Amino acid sequence: MPKDLSDFQIQYIKGVGPHRAKLLNRLGIQSVKDALYYLPYRYEDRSNIKKISDLTYGNLQTAYGKVISAEVIKLPGRNLKIFELTVNDGSALLKGKWFNQPFMKKNFKTGQEVLLCGNVRRNPYWGIGLEMDNPEYEIISNAGDSFIHMNRIVPVYRVTSGLTSRQMRSIMYNMAHTCIKDVCETIPGEILKRYALPDISASLAQVHFPEINTDLELLNRGATEFHKRLSFDELFMLELGLAALKKGNVLEKGIAFNPEKRLLKQLLSMLPFRLTKAQERVFNDILIDMKRPHPMNRLIQGDVGCGKTVVALMAMMIAAECGYQSALMAPTEILAEQHFINIYRIVEDMGLKICILTGSKKERPLDSIASGEIDLIVGTHALIQEGVVFKNLGLAVIDEQHRFGVMQRALLKKKAMNPDVLVMTATPIPRTLALTLYGDLDYSVIDELPPDRRPVTTLLFHEKQKESIYRFIREEVKKGRQVYVVYPVIEESEKTDLRSATTGKSGLEKLFPEFRIGLIHGRMKAQEREDIMASFKQGEMDILVSTTVIEVGVDVPNATLMIIIHAERFGLSQLHQLRGRIGRGAYQSYCILLAYEHYGDEARRRLDIMVKSNDGFRIAEEDLNIRGPGEFFGTRQSGIPDLRIANIVRDAILLNEARKEAFTLIDKDPDLKGYPLMRESLENFWAGKIELFKTG
Ligand code: ADP
Ligand code: MG
Repeated sequence: MPKDLSDFQIQYIKGVGPHRAKLLNRLGIQSVKDALYYLPYRYEDRSNIKKISDLTYGNLQTAYGKVISAEVIKLPGRNLKIFELTVNDGSALLKGKWFNQPFMKKNFKTGQEVLLCGNVRRNPYWGIGLEMDNPEYEIISNAGDSFIHMNRIVPVYRVTSGLTSRQMRSIMYNMAHTCIKDVCETIPGEILKRYALPDISASLAQVHFPEINTDLELLNRGATEFHKRLSFDELFMLELGLAALKKGNVLEKGIAFNPEKRLLKQLLSMLPFRLTKAQERVFNDILIDMKRPHPMNRLIQGDVGCGKTVVALMAMMIAAECGYQSALMAPTEILAEQHFINIYRIVEDMGLKICILTGSKKERPLDSIASGEIDLIVGTHALIQEGVVFKNLGLAVIDEQHRFGVMQRALLKKKAMNPDVLVMTATPIPRTLALTLYGDLDYSVIDELPPDRRPVTTLLFHEKQKESIYRFIREEVKKGRQVYVVYPVIEESEKTDLRSATTGKSGLEKLFPEFRIGLIHGRMKAQEREDIMASFKQGEMDILVSTTVIEVGVDVPNATLMIIIHAERFGLSQLHQLRGRIGRGAYQSYCILLAYEHYGDEARRRLDIMVKSNDGFRIAEEDLNIRGPGEFFGTRQSGIPDLRIANIVRDAILLNEARKEAFTLIDKDPDLKGYPLMRESLENFWAGKIELFKTG
């Protein structure tokens, strides 16, 4: 048997073979190791299978019986087909019903023995009888292996077509019985003891085939001590990797900037405002980092409009004064352009050279970048592509981190000898999570908005109230203010009934012939968008109809009203980002969410939160609750490995414990020399993501 179970192909487990191996691959199972960590999604108590006559109404139960009929019934006058399975165990009859799944019929034959698991209810018409709607079922084909499938708490795994629940369970049983004893313990015993965690073999055995008296409810919540232990493993590997990355960064040599702050003072004297306390504090963190002889790796978190850009610009002044180049990388062209437009005049007035580098810009001053003639480079991903060579990149600023991952940051760093890295994000996330997701970074928060801001008032309107929205628009424009109208799509297609930006614009033109109305969307050329944005900013338009391209960055203080059409279709974070485009000046601003019936509960929750709160942290937390961590962060984007068992929201306490232990361990033994097995599984865990240990 191969020493490492991740090299042991699942195909060679008894009962698998090449064909089923392919099916298992579809479930993400290649190796025995994958299978070990492929946990049941629920458990069923079959230690206590009731006689059908003993079933009670309203409870989830499992019963056994022989099929006496299997037929599809059409309800007259209704477009509904019901597949009905009737079974008998000698004590009574039980019916299973499946709606609009006539193909189920071919799965059953009379005389077969089956198990049905579901909620038991009365027939709604007769008020008597025993029925289950859409029960889980299992056909008992081979009595010889019934010790796997009966008289115990059985695991139920997600399967794929071509593989039944029962086959899957047999495979897992064989796998567990041959392999679990070969799993090595990688977590130090003292840590396990500290948190009273059971050992690895027992944990794996118990989550797949639990002992008879295990609490079913705990099992189904994934909350037994055995589940916890496996979650801990994953979280520990995650944190250990982050700790190693961070330790590596700390040990690396970087630039020790030694500024007189001449340019910084000049910049501050040119700003039309004073920094907030929070901006000062965060810049101070940055300055301390920049002076140290190790590379800075700092995350700046701050809600939309809190003024992150100027803080970044201040850091760039420090670099420039010390003779180093800086790069500012944004996730979209329009945002890169916006940054460029905002800072280039100020910067050139100070005698510095700045350029922009994006995919669509033909002019690419690569020579001047390579020669060091240019001090500040603003751009998109284009910045980290091959062919771009810096003379001496000292500081890299990455705006809107949530679209860049650990990997891209690493690429950017490779462009130079360990530049200082500053990452900025407007996606506020709870602190413990931030520590983990950006675990290799230090962390500062700008938790204060500039004093001239007034919170945006958010209102929910429905289709019927359109007239009052038109009145609202008219009043604001008459006052000299400007309006955004945001649509979810550009052009109407026949398939959807979404109101599109182009038809929306012509509608508004008819309603308001006296107003100047513009249109901006993502399919326009960057240059065209820039011109439109600039003209809106200069007040040459009253109403700007747009898609979500205005989501990030663009700043028009005179715009005080935003109408979001089909607000029920937008995600929470996206709504918050959009709303951040208004309320950026001294006037009271309004965000109107126009929702079209009938939206679901989840949409209602999102809209409610938007109306109630302007607090980005609160909104992000809700978003996280609604969408769950996987979707919220998108692990691919964050660059951290996928978690199969743990859930960083549900297991927050465990996460903190794992973090504490991991960082302590890496502090004592940065290369994990004393823990070769653990180091190996750590490298496997992070494989393909990033190299953790630079030295061998
Ligand atoms: P974000 O953090 O969302 O990126 P920006 O950096 O774009 O925010 O800043 C938003 C606006 O606030 C900009 O117009 C900026 O000039 C302005 N601003 C930044 N700091 C201050 C401040 N301390 N006082 C007043 N306005 C500020
Ligand atoms: Mg910004």
